[in-house]
Formats: sequence, structure tokens, C-alpha cells
Amino acid sequence: MSLLQFTNKGIYCQQGNFYIDPWQPVDYALITHAHGDHARWGSMHYLAHEVSKPIMLARLGADISIETLPYGTTKMINGVKVSLHPAGHIVGSAQIRMEYNGFVSVISGDYKVENDHISTPLEIVKCNEFVTESTFGLPIYNWLSQQQIFNNIKNWISGNQRNQRTSIFIAYSLGKAQRLMKGLEGIAPILVHRSIDRLNRAIESAGIQLPKTSLWYADMPKVDVQGNIVILPPSLLGTNVIKRIPNGAIAICSGWMQVRGSRRWQSADAGFAVSDHADWRGLLNTIKATGAEQVFVTHGYTATFSKYLNEIGISAKEVITQYGNDEEAEVTGPETKEEGR
Ligand SMILES: [Zn+2]
Ligand SMILES: [Zn+2]
Repeated sequence: MSLLQFTNKGIYCQQGNFYIDPWQPVDYALITHAHGDHARWGSMHYLAHEVSKPIMLARLGADISIETLPYGTTKMINGVKVSLHPAGHIVGSAQIRMEYNGFVSVISGDYKVENDHISTPLEIVKCNEFVTESTFGLPIYNWLSQQQIFNNIKNWISGNQRNQRTSIFIAYSLGKAQRLMKGLEGIAPILVHRSIDRLNRAIESAGIQLPKTSLWYADMPKVDVQGNIVILPPSLLGTNVIKRIPNGAIAICSGWMQVRGSRRWQSADAGFAVSDHADWRGLLNTIKATGAEQVFVTHGYTATFSKYLNEIGISAKEVITQYGNDEEAEVTGPETKEEGR
């Protein structure tokens, strides 16, 4: 038995007649989180976590039809019992649990195991079948603890400040930027790009309190930026705008920074492997803890990772989806298409 069909529009639950994170417009779309590859434009009706709502309105348009569910509350859709559970990936990110005739399916969307103190921490949900991501599904990806990473980042900022340099962070505007803000709160004034500020406002409108930041703009007077922290989206990396920031030192924050030789590494002064995705151990521990007898592996190292799961006795299948073009890929991307998908 299964509650899931993998169609050319996306993951479909036939019993409930709805899709989860579809990449084509559908009538009824359940959304795990507000990243662009999971929450797409054009569906008739959406259901998402209440924190995802203002972000989706900001990104997909204020006129979309969207209903919300808090974590842990049940809703019946055509006889399928649906509930959302924290995925720990970004604010509002949810695993979607479906139950029908006692059979339970869970779709993780994207998830992270460590508490980042800004998203609700991951909850393990027992199930019969589990759809996992595998963005970092190789044994080389093992993150330092959040505290260690932020100690390293803070040391880097201190060094920059001693040299009157501005610490510029390249971070995806939804998720990574807010994590940096939270982790670096109180160290130095934090300036953010307009695109990040816009999302911050959406997030705050959902009742989440974020650290104080001010708006960064190109050609800001030196006195307003020097020694401070500036957070900019990946699209500005390598542009003249970033080069004009006085005495700037640039750091890329992405899980891909764990391996050397990332394509755009050279244009930065530092790289920190801070990721909103589970590392190798995190993926394996989570999958085992769900107790699922069938696992479906989506975006990332799907082939390698599903093969490994089968080798250790967990029945796993690789599924082709259109997810995976989110924050991590946007910063640097893997070296080759083959390696990354
Ligand atoms: Zn994501
Ligand atoms: Zn994703």
C-alpha cells in the first residue's frame, strides 16, 4: 500500500485528491515550506503552516487562496487525516503527515536536525512510508555543531573588525539570512539587503520576533558599514555592487562550503558550512527513527543515498522530482550536474 503517487505534476495523494509541493499548477496543493522549489505559483488553493502564509503571499502574490494549519492539528481531506509537524528547516517548514485506514505517510520537504533557535525544531514522526530529501546525502557532509560554526564566524568577524573591514555574508534570503541574524545578534550592527528585509517583515507579521537590523543600500557612507555585518543574497556575489562596499571581506554560508573547490569559492574570502539541511548522520538517524518500512529519496544525491539505504536494509527508492534548486544550490551549486542530482 501507498498513499503517494509520483506524477509529472508532483507528489499526489490519490485517496485525498491533493498534491504536495507540486511543480505544476493543481487544484489543491499542500506546501511543506515557502522555498521557491516547493511553493510554486499557479495552484487554485493552498494549505500551509501559518508562518509560511505571509511568506507565500509575499512571494506568490497577495491574491492566492491559502488556508493554514498550526503544527499538530488534524484536518480531514476526503477521508485522509492530514497534519503538519515541524521540519526544523526554515521558519514555518513542515513535514506533512497523512493517515488513511491506519497507514501513515510522511513527506519531509526539507529538514534539519539541529535546533537553530529560529525555526521550530524537527519532530520525528513515526510512519510506514517516508519521503526524505538527500541534498547532503554523502558521508563527507557532517556539520560542526551550530555553536562551533558560530564561534568560527564570530572569530572571523572579530578579525575583520581589527582590520576595519566590513563582514559581508552571502546567504539565501529565506532561512539562512535569519539564522545569521539570530546567531550574530549583538555582535555588531546588522545590515540586510532589501530582499531579506522584505522577508523579515513577512516573517515578523506571522508573530516571529527577529533581531534588529537596518536596511543596506549600495553606496552607503563608509562610516555606516565599516566593521559591521552586511547580509546579502547570492545573486549579488561577484557583482560590482558588492565590490564597492568599503573594505569588505566576503563569506559564503552554505553546506557546499564543506568541500573545497566549489565553483565560486575563489570570489570569497571565507566559507562557512552552515546549512539548513540535515547532514549525512542527520538524514540516516531521522530515517531510522521514523521506523518507515519504505523510503522515497528526492532531491540531492538520490541515487547514491537510496542505494546506501538499501544496503543497510532500509527499502528505498529514488524518485525524480523538480526540487533541489533552493538555497544551497543557489549559492554555489555542485561541481557538475551528475554529481549534484
Ligand atoms: Zn528548502
Ligand atoms: Zn528543497
